[in-house]
Amino acid sequence: MLSPLLFTPLYRHYLWGGHRFASLLGRQLTEPGPYAESWELVDRGADQSVVRAGPLTGRTLGDILRDDPVAMLGTTATAGPFPLLFKFLDAHKVLSVQVHPDDAAAARRTPPDRGKTEAWYVVEAEPNSCIYAGLKPGVNQHDLAAAITAGTCEEVLHTITPRVGDCIFIPAGTVHAIGPGLVVAEIQQSSDVTFRLFDWNRVGADGQPRTLHLEDGLAATQRLGPVAPVEKQPTDDPAVSRMVACEFFAFDEVTPSASWQTGGGACEFLAILAGEVLLPDCWSLPPLQRGDCLLLPASLEPQSLTCRPTADGAPRLLRVRVPNKGG
Ligand SMILES: [Zn+2]
Repeated sequence: MLSPLLFTPLYRHYLWGGHRFASLLGRQLTEPGPYAESWELVDRGADQSVVRAGPLTGRTLGDILRDDPVAMLGTTATAGPFPLLFKFLDAHKVLSVQVHPDDAAAARRTPPDRGKTEAWYVVEAEPNSCIYAGLKPGVNQHDLAAAITAGTCEEVLHTITPRVGDCIFIPAGTVHAIGPGLVVAEIQQSSDVTFRLFDWNRVGADGQPRTLHLEDGLAATQRLGPVAPVEKQPTDDPAVSRMVACEFFAFDEVTPSASWQTGGGACEFLAILAGEVLLPDCWSLPPLQRGDCLLLPASLEPQSLTCRPTADGAPRLLRVRVPNKGG
């Protein structure tokens, strides 16, 4: 029987990062330089989430999954690595304009790579921050190519002024960039296939412009038109608003009362954004606070969580559910 799993975050120190994981997620940032990404859930080659508490301490997500895929993912588990990757991003500066292929296009180009559909939840937005999501109405691949060549890509991108709590759904094939001033939580298919279309005429740490992937990127741009923040939908559980339901994941915003039940039948991942969450006593795991994340394997019974407000506010969580089509 698997237990609920807490993992050690893996940090990425890209140039566009900042230091807000300390103030917003309660993290101790001990290394110099920017913190761009905090990977909370990953099973991709050498990049592995490692358990940090409880009976499985020190084991990797990949090991635990391979031991018993059905216990982790449910009755419809298929072979292969954990299908999703969850991370926080601190975009102090704008990220490159990019697009990801869908599963079919990724399989044609570089099997066994998967496509990448992703969704973002805005954790923090400074004034004047922005998100680029999709293309302006009427812009086609040809117009996009011309704008990139002319160095005026921004003029054809659809721009959103994001607010904290907004969710943006980016299906594979949608041109996108996370703008400056944002901290977002991102759920995505675990895939490494990114086509960079435009890098704002910048140079990298080595003084050289980073490589663009224009031909592949334009071919992968299968979705035209603008993308708006999702309209959250009520669910049967009054604590839960559904933001995204797609074939790869369901993504929910949760504002629980003092006691909240979740898990059972499908693998779930929780990220605490505010308040405190306590697991049932039997697991002897520490209380969870903002920035902490938890994986609930599909084989667990439903879990009754105790949720309390803290100085940073009423309890608020994100929940990702891995589809278990037969369960
Ligand atoms: Zn992306």
